[in-house]
Amino acid sequence: MPGLQPVSGGPPPCSVCGRPAQGQCARCHAWLCADCARLVPGLSRPLAVCPACAAQPVPAGRRLLRWLLGPAAMLLLVVLLLVLLLRA
Ligand SMILES: [Zn+2]
Ligand SMILES: [Zn+2]
Repeated sequence: MPGLQPVSGGPPPCSVCGRPAQGQCARCHAWLCADCARLVPGLSRPLAVCPACAAQPVPAGRRLLRWLLGPAAMLLLVVLLLVLLLRA
């Protein structure tokens, strides 16, 4: 049974189509061939990710959004407190 033999040397198979992989997904580290890799915008350069990861929202963008929403919510709270204090 050749399929059960462990591969010694050579690239591991692509996790999508099973052909020899050329790199790993930047997010889940699944092996990918050039045809199955999807390019998504990264922080400084495009990242090659698997199709499953490409369909998901960018974590860096979500982190940035939370980073922006945090101080905005704090500011809103402070303004609200000031309005309440000035009214009293
Ligand atoms: Zn592939
Ligand atoms: Zn992936």
